Amino acid sequence: MDAADLSQDLSEVLHTREAIDQRLVELAAQIDSDYAGRDLLLVGVLNGAVMVMADLSRSLKSHCTMDWMAISSYGSGTKSSGVVRILKDLTTDISGKHVLIVEDILDTGLTLSYLVHNLKSREPASIEVMTMFRKPEAATTDVDVKYVGFDIPNKFVIGYGLDYAGRYRNLRDVGVLSPHVYE
Ligand code: 5GP
Repeated sequence: MDAADLSQDLSEVLHTREAIDQRLVELAAQIDSDYAGRDLLLVGVLNGAVMVMADLSRSLKSHCTMDWMAISSYGSGTKSSGVVRILKDLTTDISGKHVLIVEDILDTGLTLSYLVHNLKSREPASIEVMTMFRKPEAATTDVDVKYVGFDIPNKFVIGYGLDYAGRYRNLRDVGVLSPHVYE
């Protein structure tokens, strides 16, 4: 679906699918160059990163392998709690591998901080992070994010893999959810 299909539920469109596609091509070129000559393992964080993983990996000109983790930060609604539980672990042994975590959005950074810490203990050759969207508060966390798609305002956004109550992930664009939907 496109923003026009649910204009009632969006108070603002932040990034169109075209802008997202264009930015991913730029990031992929940077990643191709940074990882030249090295085997790259992309680790996607389910469910939100499904879209960015699919599009980023296909924009790369080099080979990569992919694996997935599912984690849940307890609680629902529009705030993340920072208490993280692994729902699905990697199927690959990442020791000695060059790992790039692919995330949909970084808000407080608590989820990612946990994930990086957890994966570092498995002794990868290197570990870096790519996030499609980053909110201002994330800047205050101790997580180093090497690749950022877009910095966005501190609002609850949906689309391009990001949900509210399980819906809107299949929206191609990214926009701000109208408060009337959750209030
Ligand atoms: P953090 O731990 O960085 O605060 O939050 C990370 C997780 O919270 C994201 O992976 C995502 O699941 C959820 N999240 C944070 N901000 C938003 C947002 O604006 N929209 C949606 N749909 N999810 C968000």
